[in-house]
Amino acid sequence: MSEPSTEADRPVVLRGGTVLTMDDAGTVLPDTDVLVVDDRIAAVGTALDVPAGTREIDARGGIVMPGMIDTHRHMWQTAMRGYGADWTLTQYFVWYYLEHGKKFRPQDIAAGNRLAAIESLDAGVTTTVDWSHNLHTVEHGEAALDALRSVPGRFVLAYGNIQAGPWEWTADPAVRSFLERLRDERDDMMGVQIAFDVTGDPAFPEKAAFEVARELGLPVTTHAGVWGATSDTGIQQMYDGGFMTPETTYVHASTLTRDSYQRIAATGGSISVATESECSAGQGHAPTEQVLQYGIPVSLSMDTSVWWSGDMFSAMRATLNADRMSEHLTAHLEGETITHLRLRAQQVLEWTTRGGARTIGRDDLGTLQPGKKADVVLVKNDASPVSFPLLNPLGHVVFQAQRGDVHTVIVDGRVVKHDGKLVGIDLAPVRREIEDTIEYLKAEIGEEAWRAGMFPQMPEAEAEILDNPYQYSDFKDESKRAGGEERVLGR
Ligand SMILES: [Zn+2]
Repeated sequence: MSEPSTEADRPVVLRGGTVLTMDDAGTVLPDTDVLVVDDRIAAVGTALDVPAGTREIDARGGIVMPGMIDTHRHMWQTAMRGYGADWTLTQYFVWYYLEHGKKFRPQDIAAGNRLAAIESLDAGVTTTVDWSHNLHTVEHGEAALDALRSVPGRFVLAYGNIQAGPWEWTADPAVRSFLERLRDERDDMMGVQIAFDVTGDPAFPEKAAFEVARELGLPVTTHAGVWGATSDTGIQQMYDGGFMTPETTYVHASTLTRDSYQRIAATGGSISVATESECSAGQGHAPTEQVLQYGIPVSLSMDTSVWWSGDMFSAMRATLNADRMSEHLTAHLEGETITHLRLRAQQVLEWTTRGGARTIGRDDLGTLQPGKKADVVLVKNDASPVSFPLLNPLGHVVFQAQRGDVHTVIVDGRVVKHDGKLVGIDLAPVRREIEDTIEYLKAEIGEEAWRAGMFPQMPEAEAEILDNPYQYSDFKDESKRAGGEERVLGR
């Protein structure tokens, strides 16, 4: 899909940008160059001398930052982008797990994955964990893998199958040998995890799947603390089995007790906060307060484009907004006022860069420092009135910038987007592949059910719209004027 060229092999220097290194000290460097040679960051500094033939990219007026990392995205679902905009989690479960999801063929998984992978690059997301939990067969797995490999980004294939119990599919010799192959072929560009949830069944059938993961030496990623689906019981079972490791990712972890957060903190795993998802689906509130309180490593994720956006600008914005809303609301209920916010732009930027790197066990990613892998994003859009003044670069990325402002993206030293356009990627065949999938799914599901899935019924109205006493007509009636001077506050 994208031909390597001599252009791709040249060193690249981004000149004169505001560089967010995301190093331990959170260093921000104005008017600074970043030099990329081969797959590494060779130097960060002012007026750098560069090798002959280095490609120059003008970063003046822009922000240079590490590539963003999404630690949980169901990429196959991008094939039905935006379909579930008005869903709850319950509707998602029904339509995806019981209806549409079942129909997905290997080529449909590939179509969704390829589009999502390209979307990641376009939005400056250089590494994406594909939480691929609709792999009914190994052929589906092969299709998912091939699609990811056809796009020049970094990915982690988190293998899963919602159509069977994890103790069943991990015991399948074909799945096992596929996982072994993935593990043995694992490289800088493609990692592997095992993806399944722990339901809290007292018999803990998932134990067998954890044992397979342990035997294969593969990390587990699991939706934990999801209201109505996974709970503290699962965390206790994992803990008692010795399955909570520093490599484990707990997705959402929204509705857990103090005890569970402490178990996660003590065993060193990471929480993947998917705030845009949690705000709307009903897993529970994004656990940003808890991760700060218990010192749990955090990364951010987008979950699925069947509902939400697939870019980390939205993730960072949603996360700050949700945490601040909760902080204010909690105070207001006590009659108090928050005067200093606890969660800052810098933290959510850390979570979406070095936090993501920590979650997937990649200390060579997530910061802009010499020797690190060259995954670099230039946020710059001279045509946009939002591009200046650039006073607070951290706040600018989080609240002012958006995916359309992603000017240049470098993955593993290779320029995959430049001047706002993807390099060497033709969307026409990708669009056709998606159209084929949509046509097939619609035919399988039927027009009526297709529409019903997209536009769920409104809830039964429990009450009429409340009577409103503030009608001007009331003032024609002398008897209704009493008490009119009472002031009614919002609550
Ligand atoms: Zn998810």
